[in-house]
Amino acid sequence: AHESVWILGDQLSPHHPGLVAGRRVVMIESLARLNQRPYHRRKLVLIISAMRHYAGELRAAGYEVDLRSAPDFLSGLRDHVATFGVRHLICMAAAEYDTRQFQQRLEHDLGIPVTMLPNTLFLVERHPPTRSPALMEPFYRAMRRQTGLLIEPDGEPTGGVWNLDHENRRRYDGRPVPAPVRFPADTITQQVIADLARSCPNAIGSADDFDLPVTRAQALVALDDFIAHRLADFGPFEDAMSADHDLLFHSQLSPLLNIGLLDPLETATAAVAAYHAGKAPLASVEGFVRQIIGWREYIYYRYWELMPDLLSANAWQAERPLPGWYWHGETRMHCLSCVIKKVLRSGYCHHIERLMVLCNFALLAGIRPQEVNAWFLECYIDAYEWVVTPNVIGMGLNADGGRTATKPYLASAAYIDKMSDYCRGCFYDRKARIGPRACPFNTLYWHFLIVHEATLRANPRLGPAVLGLRRITEAERQAIMAQAATILAQIEAL
Ligand code: FAD
Ligand code: SF4
Repeated sequence: AHESVWILGDQLSPHHPGLVAGRRVVMIESLARLNQRPYHRRKLVLIISAMRHYAGELRAAGYEVDLRSAPDFLSGLRDHVATFGVRHLICMAAAEYDTRQFQQRLEHDLGIPVTMLPNTLFLVERHPPTRSPALMEPFYRAMRRQTGLLIEPDGEPTGGVWNLDHENRRRYDGRPVPAPVRFPADTITQQVIADLARSCPNAIGSADDFDLPVTRAQALVALDDFIAHRLADFGPFEDAMSADHDLLFHSQLSPLLNIGLLDPLETATAAVAAYHAGKAPLASVEGFVRQIIGWREYIYYRYWELMPDLLSANAWQAERPLPGWYWHGETRMHCLSCVIKKVLRSGYCHHIERLMVLCNFALLAGIRPQEVNAWFLECYIDAYEWVVTPNVIGMGLNADGGRTATKPYLASAAYIDKMSDYCRGCFYDRKARIGPRACPFNTLYWHFLIVHEATLRANPRLGPAVLGLRRITEAERQAIMAQAATILAQIEAL
C-alpha cells in the first residue's frame, strides 16, 4: 500500500478513524515537540510509553507500523514518505492549534496529497452545536440531550433537575480514601524512562515512581477502579482539599482521556451505568458526567473559538512575573506550599486546587497570564494547550474578558479554610487582612476589589462581593492598600 496514516501521541484511540486494514501506520517521537518546553517527566513517559504500547498492539493486530524517533515531525514524515514510497497521507485533525496549522500545510510541505479526517475524540467535534453557546450550562444541557445521558424517556433530566452542584460542597471528613490502582513500569516503560533521560535533559520532576496506565486495557482498569471505589463519594467531596491527600475521590482519568486511551462518552456512560445499578448516588454521577461532557467539551469548544487571540489575552493588565517559589513550593503560605509540592512531585492536583489556590493567588497578585499558562503547561501530566489555555487564561485568571467564565473566581482565605485543612497548619492568620501575620489571600483579595472596583461593579454576578467594600472604612482601605504594596514588593519572600 502506498497510503499511510499519521497518528499523533494524543490520538491513541482504538477507534482512530484512519485505521483501515492494509493501510500503514506512522508515528513520530519528535524530539522538538518533546523538548518544546521543560515538561514533567511523568507526562513525557506516559505519552511515549503509551505510543510504543499502542504501536505494539497495532502490529499484533496485523498493521505495519513505522514508529520512529526524529528531530521534528516534518523530517520524520519526509523520511517515512521516502522510505515507503508513500503517495497519500491520512491524518486526524489535531486537538491543538499549532499542530493543526502544521497539518494544513503538510500537503505543500510533503508534496503528496494529505487527507485530514475530522477529530473524533471530542463529542463537540462529532456533533458541533448549531449556535455558539454563550454559557456552560445551556451547552451542558444540549450535550445531555444529545447523548441521552441521565435523560428520561420523556426528555426530562433524571431526578428532575439538571444540576446537583449545590449538594457537592462538603469539606473532607477524614473517611478512608481507597488507593487508586497502580501500574508499575513494565520493560517498555523502563526503556522509555531511560531513553527520555537522554533525549529530554531539561524535563522537570521525576519518573522514578511512574505508575500510570499506558495501555487501553490498563486505562479501562483505571476507569473501573474509579467507578467501583471512588465515584460514590466524588460528588460531595468534589471541592474538598486536604494536605494529606492528592486525589481524594477524583478520577485522575484526564491524562488518559486526553491521549485517546479513554473515550469521553464511554467514560460518562460507565458512571451512568453505576447509578442505574445502585452503586453511586445521582449527585455524584451527575457531577462527574457534567465534568466530562459539560466542562471538558465546553473548554475544548471555547479554545477553538478564541484561538489564537486567547494566548495573549490580559484583560486585568497583570504584569508581575510568576514568583520563583511556584518552582519549588518553599513559601510560608501553607496551601500554596502543599499544592505546589504535590504538583511538582506527581504532575497532578485536582480542579479546586488548580482554580482556587494556584490561579486564585495569581489573579489576586496580578501575575502575567502567559507565565501562569506556561507553568501549567509544563507541570501537569494532563496538560495540553487546548485544555490549559482556556482553563488558565479564561477560567482561572479571567484574562479573556469573561468569554470562558462570566465572572472571575476570586476568593479570600475564608473559602480555602472552608474547603480545606490547610489554614490550620499555616504561619499566616486566616482571619486577618491587615497586620504582620495577615493571610496574603485576604489582603490581596480586598486590594483587588478596591483597585478594580469600577470594572467589578459593572458585572452583575459580582454585586455581592463588591458590596462588601461598603463595610470597609476609608482608613481600612488605606491600610489594605499599604499592606498589599508591601506584600507585592516582597512576593518572593512570602
Ligand atoms: P475529575 O475531578 O475526576 O473530573 C473528571 C474529568 O472531568 C477530568 O478527568 C477531566 O477530563 C474533566 N474535566 C473537569 N473539569 C474540566 C475542565 N475545566 N476542563 C477540562 N476537563 C475537565 N484538565 C486537563 O485535562 N489538563 C490540564 O492541563 C488542565 N489544567 C487546568 C488548569 C486550571 C487552572 C484549571 C482550573 C483546570 C484545569 N484542568 C485541566 C481541568 C481539571 O482541573 C482537570 O481536568 C482535573 O483536575 C483532572 O483531574 P481528574 O481526572 O482527577 O478530574
Ligand atoms: Fe493559605 Fe491563607 Fe489559609 Fe495560609 S491562612 S493556608 S496562606 S489561605
